[in-house]
Amino acid sequence: MDYFPIFMRLEGRSCLVVGGGGVALRKVSLLRKADARVTVVSPELCPQLEALAKQGAIEHVARDFQDDDVLDRVLVIAATDHQAVNQRVSALCMERSIPVNVVDQPDLCGFITPSMVDRSPLQVAISTGGSSPVLARLFRSRIESFIPAAYGGLAALVEGYRLQAKERIPDPELRRRFWERLLEGPVTELFLSGREDAAREALEQALEQGLDRRDTGGEVFLVGAGPGDPDLLTFRALRLMQLADVVVHDNLVSPAILELVRRDAEMIYAGKKRNQHTLPQEQINQLLVRLAKEGKRVLRLKGGDPFIFGRGGEEIDTLMQEGIPFQVVPGITAAAGCASFAGIPLTHRDYSQALVFATGHLRDGTIDLNWDMLAQPRQTVVFYMGLVGLPIICRELTAHGLPASTPAALVEQGTTQNQRVLVGTLETLPDIVQEHDVQPPTLIIVGEVVRLHERLQWFQPGTDHTTESLFSSRGQVEQQSAAPRVEASHE
Ligand code: SAH
Repeated sequence: MDYFPIFMRLEGRSCLVVGGGGVALRKVSLLRKADARVTVVSPELCPQLEALAKQGAIEHVARDFQDDDVLDRVLVIAATDHQAVNQRVSALCMERSIPVNVVDQPDLCGFITPSMVDRSPLQVAISTGGSSPVLARLFRSRIESFIPAAYGGLAALVEGYRLQAKERIPDPELRRRFWERLLEGPVTELFLSGREDAAREALEQALEQGLDRRDTGGEVFLVGAGPGDPDLLTFRALRLMQLADVVVHDNLVSPAILELVRRDAEMIYAGKKRNQHTLPQEQINQLLVRLAKEGKRVLRLKGGDPFIFGRGGEEIDTLMQEGIPFQVVPGITAAAGCASFAGIPLTHRDYSQALVFATGHLRDGTIDLNWDMLAQPRQTVVFYMGLVGLPIICRELTAHGLPASTPAALVEQGTTQNQRVLVGTLETLPDIVQEHDVQPPTLIIVGEVVRLHERLQWFQPGTDHTTESLFSSRGQVEQQSAAPRVEASHE
């Protein structure tokens, strides 16, 4: 370990910044966040520092640096363009054991400043020992994405009860376990889902009951996993996936996404394949109830969004009746994911002012839909579960008034590395699809906006589009999604 990490208390203490430009400004802002008393030594100041000096927020000494300036400082930062000055500041501080940082010159530094994730009072500091600030920043954005913004508030809430907990549970080891159980469970969940008062209440109740409280209440998280690419999960989905004791998932959730679930969680497959229900819906509803009643945190993971052709409504209806706590986490629905990745804007000022999601699922060989409503100009219609019924869909739309030349597209395994987009018209698309060996899941988009695909297609499967390819598990995704999947047409 080349550097020893510490968090330093600077409130009301005297810090010196040498230099008055943009870099100095950044350092001053940081020091002010920590409520330090900041003196800036520089003949001139940039406008923002000038303004701070005018407000009295910093002290400005308008001249060149002098040796005495470092006296009685608890921390010094040099941010000038003058090498000689930077060296002088560094040497003086080193002699006097004053922590000193010279911006971008590790050799002259007594300390370096980390990359930070600031959810005060929760803070994460990252350092690569000065070897690669860019890598530190990449890690920072990575960590940033794992720590919901609300964690800061949670830390503040807990802080308010620390003394009380100490009195109530004097044994430090027992106290640690108490906090662990509390923060892994309901208090965090309530807080992060925006129910601050309920979180406070749960915390107070737990304190009241001390450590003897048996935590029996399970809960259900109904979570949308998006259309396939793990990068398209929400932060909340990911967090709950890593918290769950048991996961009930269907076949639309890709293996790459299941990889991200907590390692020791029990996995239950409740998938639905066409004409082959693994578990009837009523049984799934009852399964969720039973698992929650056993005190488990149950993750019900669904492809896309749970409330769009996902039967999420029925599942939470049962939970509601049984008085089981739950929350619903939206996901990117197939229409949004496929449209984005196919370069087909679902609405467009010139072509389409309305958007309809419909199911193309066949019942007894027909599709029971309001075709007059669907066959309207200037709107886009997206069909889920429409592969088998595609010829019927095209025929009915034409019969109800849409021109046979209306553009239509089929997006196969949208957003994954196997995505293909087949484009035609209501007249030609069924034959085009016939000619290709199409693998589910597939989505059908009908409307003038489909024309834009030719111009706007940007996603090339097999190419990495994320900026953080360094960390992405895309290699894995590619491999896993290569296995053909089965149409989930019964949701
Ligand atoms: N709740 C899901 C939809 C479930 S219905 C959602 O919001 O997306 C299942 C249908 O969704 C499939 O038959 C298919 O039409 C569509 N679908 C889901 N993922 C898809 C994908 N990656 N590419 C194309 N279609 C997809």
